[in-house]
Amino acid sequence: MYFVANWKMNPPTLAEAERLLKQVKAQLRIVRDGAEANIVICPPSIFFSKIAKSNNLIKFGVQNINWEERGSFTGETSILMAKDFGAEYCLVGHSERKIYFGENSLLANKKIKLCLEKGLTPIYCIGETLEEKQRGQTRKIIQEQLKVGLKDIGWMGMKHIIIAYEPIWAIGTQNGAGAANPDNVLEISILIRKILFDIYDQKTARKTIVLYGGSVTPKNVISYLQNNSSNGFLIGSASLNASDFVSIIKKSTIQKNVS
Ligand code: PEP
Repeated sequence: MYFVANWKMNPPTLAEAERLLKQVKAQLRIVRDGAEANIVICPPSIFFSKIAKSNNLIKFGVQNINWEERGSFTGETSILMAKDFGAEYCLVGHSERKIYFGENSLLANKKIKLCLEKGLTPIYCIGETLEEKQRGQTRKIIQEQLKVGLKDIGWMGMKHIIIAYEPIWAIGTQNGAGAANPDNVLEISILIRKILFDIYDQKTARKTIVLYGGSVTPKNVISYLQNNSSNGFLIGSASLNASDFVSIIKKSTIQKNVS
């Protein structure tokens, strides 16, 4: 199972980021024995060189890259820089990039291709807004995001892509109050696999890693595991608290071993 922490623009200082990572590592030591957990932390890129030291426990990813390798893009991070500092994963198309920076599926497609070319695993975030959901457009939106975002990527490339279903209305809500209903997550993950089947083949549809993201907490994580709807989680708010993040991993891996 995958557990991807998206720290977003947090914490505000390097000292706090180092402390958070130290706490996560310390608490993970107790969990990891025999647990099949792929843990990826995506810290702010300005902290990357100081804290992203991969080991067999934790890998690191960047939250965004530019669609070009180099050039005049003030304020941006290049994939070459990310790789140079040890990034192995990259979030692509996160809803906050769409909302605040106008990104779309076409741009996601460019970034995914660049990741594949340079050897980073893209974690492609897809999901509908509340208005789209209320208008009954979820299916159409997911279809567009997959068809355009994955355009010209063959089944070989799909082996190196992770999809994260993150309904925008479920992201960042307090106490998990707005988290998606597990049945809803199951329904959409089936839809995602169906679309992948249409674009590719049965094997790709079955094997592609599909995560759920949106207000996952230690309290609600079990509900998503019971119906086997996802291969792990993309975690925002709860990843900023070491105990919560590790508790999500612990509960998930125990549940998986039991089921
Ligand atoms: C996210 O932004 O990717 C996310 C899942 O955030 P949260 O867990 O806070 O909803």
